[in-house]
Amino acid sequence: MTTTCGYCGVGCRLETHVRGGRIASITPALDGPANLGHTCLKGRFAHGFTRSPDRLTTPLIRAEGELRPASWGEAIARIVAELERIKRDHGADAVAGLASSRATNEDCYAMQRLIRAAVGTNNIDNCSRVCHSPTSFAMRKSFGLSGATGSFADLDAAEVALLLGVNPTQGHPVVGARIKQAALRGCKLITIDPRRIELADYGAIHLAPRPGTNAAVVLGLCHVVRRDGLVDEGFVAARTEGYEALSELLESYDPAAVEEITGIAADELEAAAHLYAEAASGSLLWGLGVTEHKYGSEVVQLLCNLALMTGKVGKPGSALLPLRGQNNVQGSSDMGALPDTYTAYRSVEDEGVALSFEAEWGVPLSRHKGMKIPEMFDAAIAGELKAMYIFGEDVAQTDPDIAHVAAALEGLEFLVCQEIFLNETTKYADVVLPASAFLEKEGTFTNAERRFQVVEPALDPPGEAKTDFEIITTVARALGHEMGWGTPWDALDEIARLTPEYAGVSRERLGRGGLQWPVRADGSDSPTLYDAFFDRPGGRGHFAPLPYKPPGDAADDEYPLVLVTGRVLQHYNAGTMTRRTANAELVDRDLLEIHPEDAARLWISDGDRVSVRSRVGRTEIEARITERIEPGHVFTSFHFPETRTNLLIGQSADVNTSCPEYKVVAVDVRPIAEQPAFSPALGSTT
Ligand code: SF4
Repeated sequence: MTTTCGYCGVGCRLETHVRGGRIASITPALDGPANLGHTCLKGRFAHGFTRSPDRLTTPLIRAEGELRPASWGEAIARIVAELERIKRDHGADAVAGLASSRATNEDCYAMQRLIRAAVGTNNIDNCSRVCHSPTSFAMRKSFGLSGATGSFADLDAAEVALLLGVNPTQGHPVVGARIKQAALRGCKLITIDPRRIELADYGAIHLAPRPGTNAAVVLGLCHVVRRDGLVDEGFVAARTEGYEALSELLESYDPAAVEEITGIAADELEAAAHLYAEAASGSLLWGLGVTEHKYGSEVVQLLCNLALMTGKVGKPGSALLPLRGQNNVQGSSDMGALPDTYTAYRSVEDEGVALSFEAEWGVPLSRHKGMKIPEMFDAAIAGELKAMYIFGEDVAQTDPDIAHVAAALEGLEFLVCQEIFLNETTKYADVVLPASAFLEKEGTFTNAERRFQVVEPALDPPGEAKTDFEIITTVARALGHEMGWGTPWDALDEIARLTPEYAGVSRERLGRGGLQWPVRADGSDSPTLYDAFFDRPGGRGHFAPLPYKPPGDAADDEYPLVLVTGRVLQHYNAGTMTRRTANAELVDRDLLEIHPEDAARLWISDGDRVSVRSRVGRTEIEARITERIEPGHVFTSFHFPETRTNLLIGQSADVNTSCPEYKVVAVDVRPIAEQPAFSPALGSTT
């Protein structure tokens, strides 16, 4: 059976081989357009979790403080009774739902329909809120559509690739390998990251800015492009608007001024600007090292400025490629699992769009925007939000300021979790529904290059677990809303019927290679966007004149180091799946990377257990001394719940999208022996 990987947003096509009801092996599909016959060790080997003895195999209902096995009938009756009670007493807006970026497009579409049509509120969101919502916001502002402007194949044609705040060999390994191959063929790499990432060893230039100063770096690059006559004047005149205001702003960002802010030597910045701008083709890649900042969405707009100034968009080799984290973080938002938009980012306030969904679903729909995830937690603490239905997201481990999240979950009157394993969030659940992994379901995922790809089941869900699609449609029916679909393919047909951007998508047309949206009614798709015009009124790309502003947190005397968080190759996000495979034998814990100078000053040896304390919390972790990290910075992954990395993250968030600022956290690090017996911060969070 051929399916699509359920780990990261590369979207590798996989061949699954089953024996005796278990996955015997997985091999790469040789014709997968995103992977070309490759996979990483997660997609290929990390499948044993599907038959882990920990899998949830029966519904659970909380009784006398304990989660106890129950029948599906009891679980659904409890959900219906509680949601109807809360709606009756407090209104539909006292309920909220989260869709899962690990699930299929059809699951996410069903989930937003459940919340909008069966419950009656726009309080629906998904975890793109905490990763790439700034990318979506910015690309819509600058270019018009929320997605990569090209394809991974553009990397094969690029003369230069500039990577800002992204570490593909760890987070998106098959794309990382493709970039290595491109570099070996002559593509010049510019890597910009506080850590010396692996691809820096293959690159022409590596710049290591202070965390939180990305905006100044990009403004400095644009300054040099303008100052040294490298602007593509013809492209700017014919295809863009707003250049004058940006040009004026750039005056202030000469390389010396940028060096003051970022720590990047002026001559290195100039060399990077020339290398990118003078190339005939150049691609830009970024990740959470850009977006998870207070001004992350503005930095993405600035990257769009750089591409527009140099005419490097809409042509082969010149793509803007935000590398999406979870396998379907693009699709979950495309499907309207957002509080302000239906499918393809069309506003809930747009009367024509709302009427089209009302006609299809046969119910009146709210015209008011719902709550984003952080607003849901604030409302729960304030007593205004009474119930949540959380599908495939462990918010109590992965969201920032987890003490705050815990308080919110405790404050709810009713919580449903739909999951494959018990986790930190299910500790607060009243009902837990046993769901399916990606190897047990059918539908589609949309990868980081906007490609719809088919997902096919290799296994049945274990025990009494059901597919997410069956669970959601069953709950909706019990709440009185019949969705009228037999299979996920019926839902895909509805999505295509209601969404012009996906009009030509169907199971048959997707075939083995998928289709990149927009997909027109005749089935033709769009590997490259904006080759002739941008998807904005007037068809022009928009320059955003946005100045550098400092991050929400900064080192000081009490918290002298800056913590950056990220991923390692062997594990995925909260590690729920990969920690239950042999990958855990390769990496069995999170480590705190620290530069030798800082380690020596703090009397820390390699392997020491250290305390890491931020303004909001404290945790403990093992130190790893390495020169990959710059002095003054420390780095850790967040794959192991016992590390509780997100206890350290505060409430600072992107100004436009509320994406948390995971990437700049001032911390105090010291050997455990120097810690007092009781820490107020630790005490307040346990
Ligand atoms: Fe799966 Fe991403 Fe690895 Fe490909 S690169 S196999 S999509 S985790």
